[in-house]
Amino acid sequence: MFTKILIANRSEIACRIIQTCARLGVRTVAVHSDVDAGARHVSLADEAISLGGQTPAESYLKGDAIIAAATATGAQAIHPGYGFLSENPDFVDAVEASDLTFIGPSAKAIRAMGLKDAAKKLMEEAGVPVVPGYHGEAQDNLAAEAEKIGYPVLIKAVAGGGGKGMRIVAGPEMFEEALDSARSEALKAFGNDRVLIEKYVEKPRHIEVQVFGDGKTAVHLFERDCSLQRRHQKVIEEAPAPGMTPEMRDAMGQAAVRAAEAVGYAGAGTVEFIVDASDGLRTDRFYFMEMNTRLQVEHPVTEEITGVDLVEWQLQVASGQPLPVAQDELTITGHAFEARLYAEDVPAGFLPATGTLAHLAFSERARIDTGVRPGDEISPFYDPMIAKLTVHAGTRADALSKLERALSQTQIAGTVTNIAFLTALTRHEGFAAGDVDTGLIERDIETLSAQPVPCTRTQALAAVASLTAYDGALSGFTLWAPLRHEVVLHQPDAPSTAYVSPEGQGVFTVELESVTHQIAQTAEGWRVDGAKVSADVIQTPTGVSVFWGNAYHFDVPDPLARGADAGGGSDMTLAPMPGLVKTVSVKPGDTVAEGDRLAVLEAMKMEHTLRAARDGVIAEVTTQAGAQVKAGDLLVRLRGEDE
Ligand code: ADP
Ligand code: ADP
Ligand code: MG
Repeated sequence: MFTKILIANRSEIACRIIQTCARLGVRTVAVHSDVDAGARHVSLADEAISLGGQTPAESYLKGDAIIAAATATGAQAIHPGYGFLSENPDFVDAVEASDLTFIGPSAKAIRAMGLKDAAKKLMEEAGVPVVPGYHGEAQDNLAAEAEKIGYPVLIKAVAGGGGKGMRIVAGPEMFEEALDSARSEALKAFGNDRVLIEKYVEKPRHIEVQVFGDGKTAVHLFERDCSLQRRHQKVIEEAPAPGMTPEMRDAMGQAAVRAAEAVGYAGAGTVEFIVDASDGLRTDRFYFMEMNTRLQVEHPVTEEITGVDLVEWQLQVASGQPLPVAQDELTITGHAFEARLYAEDVPAGFLPATGTLAHLAFSERARIDTGVRPGDEISPFYDPMIAKLTVHAGTRADALSKLERALSQTQIAGTVTNIAFLTALTRHEGFAAGDVDTGLIERDIETLSAQPVPCTRTQALAAVASLTAYDGALSGFTLWAPLRHEVVLHQPDAPSTAYVSPEGQGVFTVELESVTHQIAQTAEGWRVDGAKVSADVIQTPTGVSVFWGNAYHFDVPDPLARGADAGGGSDMTLAPMPGLVKTVSVKPGDTVAEGDRLAVLEAMKMEHTLRAARDGVIAEVTTQAGAQVKAGDLLVRLRGEDE
């Protein structure tokens, strides 16, 4: 076994690999970009080497710098994780030329499987069923080939990956346009515009087989169903596949092992099949799509049902040990799901999002694979994955309800996430019944991507929290007691207004458009209209998040905007938040007009100007420049009518 390895990756997968190394007593070297200098994977590793840069090209794709880091630190091997350099055969050659071990298959096996057309040819020769279609060299008669195959067809970039360079074509009149756009996308993403054409399989299910080889023989660790996809990208994966029969499992497992052995595969790999499920799962209706020559994102579901640590096996086989078990020693226990949690804006069309994770709390019910901690940032430079949630239970139904619970107990504030979308999927009837295919999400995309609408009780909690956001101690609010504060709640649909009246001792009356609620904050948590609720309310620098079954976020862009409104027309100017008084612009007896500057408060690293709420004369100034004030402290008072 190795004593020290370098991990040429970042985020959750780097952390995942370090975890197994730590358990086995293998020391680890992390590499990182400038952006990731303080990242979780860096702090977990025994040593870390900076690659500099921000983008992948400036950092995690710099093969030479990574090899130099391994040599300099005395690492014996490099684990590539997934993505980045993991399927780059030139990198494997360079690693081996430097007398280091690449933890993965040979450059030759990666090359054999690297292009989809060449891989399909090879698989046909090895007796593995492939999707009917055209995967020839010539690229000048593709429309005729599509006609021969019969519509609908799928155009695929031979160098494709991650669902890019792929177009479904329903009929001949759409072919040329689809071909052009597939080619240009492929050229941009992979520097190769060659394509192949496949029959578009009916009621397609994506079922893949985990294989593991030692360079000569291979075993399989059963299947994963990854049919829950959006734009050809996996969303929730599970193992075993729902409705799988022993015959189908044997047939697919044997085909996958043949595929691996045909290229002398060493290490962990995945053989992806597309299954025509229009007539159930039939042994003559599954077809090889591609082989991914690396550890796969969704490997945890396989680990959960087999009890195998795939990273441990990778280290063992790469260090020259034989396959740890024979095929008949592997069994399936229970059922597992994995959900991919991303920072993405679902209503905006699943746009990648960024942000600082002001609050991050995971459920105890799930295995969590993550590369971030509370306070970390989701940067625009890499994949916006926050975590993978994996659950395991005796039955599929139990595992699915466990996933639903784990998702609803996940609390994230500071960025938008796809949690509501994932939760909606766990409640989807067809999914619950195991009736999955790759079109499921798209068919129901509207219902699935609907954002939960906060009820009035949730709004009332948010209103109280946004009022107190800049004052940790609610007791500081006695001074505010006689006031009725206007709070604007910024929520997805439209802003709404709440009026909050502190009644003392942590009790508030909140008037909303159609209803009034009483909110109380007690040592045991929140009460709404007298009833204890299991809501968690989190204040962040940009707003308030209420976690109550779902996650609801309310932006509070400028606390002072509320402060200025507070008790509109009031004679008293109070500190809207704790801070430092920078300047006081008035003295008793001064005449002021509405909007005149009274004082400047520095808080939250920003200066806030406090202005006169109406025309009048200053009665008293109860603060001075340099004073530290609490939220609610009286600063300036205007002379009343009768003074
Ligand atoms: P990538 O390299 O981008 O992962 P794949 O060839 O694995 O490309 O295909 C990605 C996804 O596209 C599959 O998971 C499946 O949902 C869909 N797909 C691929 N080939 C077919 C096909 N012939 N018929 C129907 N769907 C397909
Ligand atoms: P529990 O979930 O432990 O029963 P809660 O305090 O969360 O307790 O719920 C109290 C009541 O509020 C229940 O009737 C529940 O259905 C309801 N409830 C739960 N979440 C919300 C929410 N986000 N908005 C409004 N009502 C909710
Ligand atoms: Mg694929």
